[in-house]
Amino acid sequence: MRRLLTTRPATLAFLLVAAVFAVDLCLPLGVASAVPYTFAVLLALGAKPGWIGPGVAALCGVLTLAKMEIAPDRGTTEMWKVIANRGLALFAIGMTTLLGLLRRRAEAKNRQHEADLARMSRLAVAGELAALLAHELNQPLAAVCLQADIAAHLVKESDSAELKEALGEVSEQSRRAAEIVRSIRRTVRRADPERAPVDLNEVVLAVARLLDWKARRAGVSVELNLAPDPLAPTYGDRAQLEQVLFNLLQNAVEAVDGRNTRSVVIETRQESDLLAVRVSDTGEGLADLERAFERFYTTKPDGMGLGLAISRSIAEAHGGTLTAATRPISGAIFTCVLPVYRGESA
Ligand code: ADP
Repeated sequence: MRRLLTTRPATLAFLLVAAVFAVDLCLPLGVASAVPYTFAVLLALGAKPGWIGPGVAALCGVLTLAKMEIAPDRGTTEMWKVIANRGLALFAIGMTTLLGLLRRRAEAKNRQHEADLARMSRLAVAGELAALLAHELNQPLAAVCLQADIAAHLVKESDSAELKEALGEVSEQSRRAAEIVRSIRRTVRRADPERAPVDLNEVVLAVARLLDWKARRAGVSVELNLAPDPLAPTYGDRAQLEQVLFNLLQNAVEAVDGRNTRSVVIETRQESDLLAVRVSDTGEGLADLERAFERFYTTKPDGMGLGLAISRSIAEAHGGTLTAATRPISGAIFTCVLPVYRGESA
């Protein structure tokens, strides 16, 4: 029986409804018929798909009324009492359905909350691992860098251009890796934001450098269309603003990856008291403009769905905004607007 209750609640609910209706037709149950009907509704609310619960409730209501038509014999009971009884039965069925639906919604919310917490804790573990990796990789990378510099110095006299070029590349790539490691450490380790005047052009250049390997691997050309220097600064945490740009640029590169036209443009400009950074791409565009900023909304098989949500809250914490739009032909445009720093601390 217990197995049936969990595996076939809908069947049991329909059987119970049929039995109650049969008994109701034969006996003058009155308001008492509501009691077993409410059990049937409670059973049905546990069934899938979700419409079965309300469907069974509606069926119970219809049968409660139909009984008056099919078996109108009411013996010596006055009509108003019969109607009042049926009305109370309907009320009980309705209230049970409503409370059941509210409980079901609360349970679904709880489950979602638990899943969110589990995901957040996995992210925290990933953050710890990233910090550990960054720490462990720092020293060997510094050593590689140093050795490459020494070797480059030693072969200065040699006329092997290829060797010089190879060593130059080793040095350049290890410096790039060291910069990535430093930026991971900055992002993962520091709890308190450090606020200072920040040049947005510099932020864009740093992030474009960081993601250059990814863009090159995907065959994407990233065009920088920067406002002429010196650009008025904004006030905030440079690592966090880099994180915003990093998310936007990474999404843009992923959006155009594999398409015929693979173009990404980053633009900065100043309009009186506001600075804007705009990242546009020639990808497919946003599948759902409203939901893109929701936590854990992702259309990527290995996506987290956190980048845009975090980026928007960073922009807002800096007194700015982050919005998305669809490009006229195809693609997406993300615009982050931040206030210009005028000397007073924010
Ligand atoms: P993730 O990249 O892990 O999915 P994000 O919060 O950065 O998380 O992005 C959420 C979703 O918004 C993506 O899964 C994608 O559907 C959509 N999106 C973000 N940027 C773009 C873009 N440039 N073009 C098309 N869709 C995008």
